Amino acid sequence: MSETLDAYRIAAQPYYRCVADEVALFEAAYSVRMPMMLKGPTGCGKTRFVEYMAWKLSKPLITVACNEDMTASDLVGRYLLDANGTRWQDGPLAMAARHGAICYLDEVVEARQDTTVVIHPLTDNRRVLPLEKKGELIKAHPDFQIVISYNPGYQSLMKDLKQSTKQRFGALDFNYPDHAIEVEIVAHETGVQPDVADKLVGIAERARNLKGHGLDEGISTRMLIYAGSLIAQGVAVQAACRVALVRPITDDPDMRDALDAAVSTFF
Ligand code: ADP
Repeated sequence: MSETLDAYRIAAQPYYRCVADEVALFEAAYSVRMPMMLKGPTGCGKTRFVEYMAWKLSKPLITVACNEDMTASDLVGRYLLDANGTRWQDGPLAMAARHGAICYLDEVVEARQDTTVVIHPLTDNRRVLPLEKKGELIKAHPDFQIVISYNPGYQSLMKDLKQSTKQRFGALDFNYPDHAIEVEIVAHETGVQPDVADKLVGIAERARNLKGHGLDEGISTRMLIYAGSLIAQGVAVQAACRVALVRPITDDPDMRDALDAAVSTFF
């Protein structure tokens, strides 16, 4: 593998608590270089999982946070002007395909559909990436794999992946972990005592039941880790929960009261 990707290698083992058979399934998918889609709500461990898998497979990881302003050139590359004239610069997808990295497109549904289609030729058995502006066809390195994340909760008619894109991927479902596992994760990541982590997870579970009944999304594992980190810093529990769990997810005064009340029943 080329030195170009050294900066994208994951040096230390990321902490990842497996929840089912996702590690073995991903390894099998990687062994046949199957493009993979990680589906699930925000903050439930998808990014951490792909970091862990890249480390376990000893492959560099190039992550792209997708957004609606992203163009195909942002992924593939463009000519830049410098003192000596023009110079081609590979985008992250081209770099991963050329040198053999795992390319992780986070929240791919945020990208416009005309951007998303550039990944198609990399996801069928041609495994190529045409650089139209440069007149080059990159044949993907044998180590290259493409992984995308996708939050099914956000889908709408305007913002969804095309079937022709979806059907190019194998998919793994992610969700908030079971109670005991989530307690373990929150305690590990923040250093709070397990009984505190247990209560934080209890609050999140209450809030998750309100999804679709006034809340668009539940309290994620990531939010629990924020709350736990504040508590570990000495912030009072109620204030930490207000700042990290309640205020970010709703502006509705009644819903805020309901969630603050849930916090008070636990702490
Ligand atoms: P997503 O990519 O799904 O939005 P992340 O992977 O960034 O979410 O997860 C948010 C945080 O939750 C991570 O930084 C990590 O601390 C924690 N986390 C969630 N699930 C796990 C897990 N199974 N093992 C270890 N940490 C986890």
